[in-house]
Amino acid sequence: MPYSVSPIGYVRSCFKEKFAIPRQPQLAPAARGVLELLAPFDNGDAVQGLEQVSHVWLLFVFHQALEDKPRLKVRPPRLGGNQSVGVFSTRATHRPNGLGQSVVKLDKVEAGKLWLSGIDLLDGTPVLDIKPYVPYADSVTGAYNRIADSAPALIEVSWENAALAQSHEHGRRLSEPLTELIEQCLAQDPRPAYQQPTPERRYGVRFWDVDVHWHYPQPGCICVLAVVPAD
Ligand code: SAM
Repeated sequence: MPYSVSPIGYVRSCFKEKFAIPRQPQLAPAARGVLELLAPFDNGDAVQGLEQVSHVWLLFVFHQALEDKPRLKVRPPRLGGNQSVGVFSTRATHRPNGLGQSVVKLDKVEAGKLWLSGIDLLDGTPVLDIKPYVPYADSVTGAYNRIADSAPALIEVSWENAALAQSHEHGRRLSEPLTELIEQCLAQDPRPAYQQPTPERRYGVRFWDVDVHWHYPQPGCICVLAVVPAD
């Protein structure tokens, strides 16, 4: 029997495209956004008490990964993209009902608006529900996951001098920790695992309203080349 759900709000996020978003929340603490609540939840009553909570679970829709045909097996990037496992053993975006869940930091609460950080959510993500993180119940002593047993290894991120100056300038203009955001996201090495980039190959992504360009001067090392206003 089908159930009907509807968004209680939408996330306005630093991430304007799927590429280079960390694979889980908390991996980039400088990744910030605002959850804008819809009526009737934009009334202060709905969030009263949340100021006593440091983190919340967001239940959301992977609105840019919805598919008609259900997949039973997926190839998670975490396993290099060439090994398939059952869809329910992963947090892949392609899944029945397109539902995602993330624990994010709650920085500020206002009627109709929640300021968030450590997010892994695309701009415009529809949110279905918010629940407070409950440390005694949600943090499980002795839990394990042998497919994803630790955070992804980080790679070194260096900067061209001009790019670093551009990043500082845009960060000031946006009042956002942009340089930290770039370093935290690129250190996760967003490149698909099957691509072996030459130093000539350029990569790019949009954070907030700027385009970030980088290359791999040598394997396992990123150099940021430019941080420029988005076209
Ligand atoms: N923490 C969530 C979970 O476990 O359900 C998401 C995990 S999923 C592996 C993280 C990826 O989802 C991000 O790297 C990003 O590319 C993608 N993503 C985030 N928001 C999305 C959206 N609204 N639609 C489609 N893909 C999205």
